[in-house]
Amino acid sequence: MTIKAVVFDWGGTLTPWHNVDLFELWLGYSNVYDPENAKELAEVLNHGEQARWSRQFETNGEVGTGVLDELFHEAGVDTSSPLHSKALENYLSGWDPHTYTDPDAIELLEGLRGRGIKTAVLSNTMWPRRHHEAVLERDGVLHLFDYLLFTSETPAGKPHKSVFADVLYNLDIEPKNAAFVGDRLFDDIHGAQSIGMKGIWIPHSNIPASQSSDLGITPDATVQKLSEVMNVVLDWSNQ
Ligand SMILES: [Mg+2]
Repeated sequence: MTIKAVVFDWGGTLTPWHNVDLFELWLGYSNVYDPENAKELAEVLNHGEQARWSRQFETNGEVGTGVLDELFHEAGVDTSSPLHSKALENYLSGWDPHTYTDPDAIELLEGLRGRGIKTAVLSNTMWPRRHHEAVLERDGVLHLFDYLLFTSETPAGKPHKSVFADVLYNLDIEPKNAAFVGDRLFDDIHGAQSIGMKGIWIPHSNIPASQSSDLGITPDATVQKLSEVMNVVLDWSNQ
């Protein structure tokens, strides 16, 4: 067997897991957009976000994450206003301390590519592509990926087979020649295995109980650090 592509989850995988207070982050938005009703608005946005994560999980990714604009429209936000742009910027920059790429990523990605192995990101996210790309660019890793797929641009989300298939189609790689690295047994490992990819699990994230299931899911490999992925891939390729 030869591994010709490695696809990575983003949050909790390329970016180490942080426990974040989502309500606090939404306050960063609503304090700018509507200071007088900041708490109420943050509650509505936070609730809308949680509902989307639950829906994505409960439908096995058939209904994906959607986009931030859906939350804003539900909350009665005027997304064409300059105030909204400013508030959104404040919200996203509130996430900055939690988005830094694992320092091990560069060496791993360069190592894989140096061996002719393609690399990609597949992330369940409501954020726009431009924000994700800016974060990866900030950390000097954007150019190290052959393909990026964000579920803010797809109808489905992980673990639905269609998003894994989309990535492999664009990489022009068969599932049997591809590995997925992720921190969620259900979304990442089960999803990847369901189309015939190998699943490499990094088990250090504090996944909310409402978004997790490990029933009968066995990763093909478990690693403690991103830097251990290379040896797993080389071992499989030598078998
Ligand atoms: Mg993750």
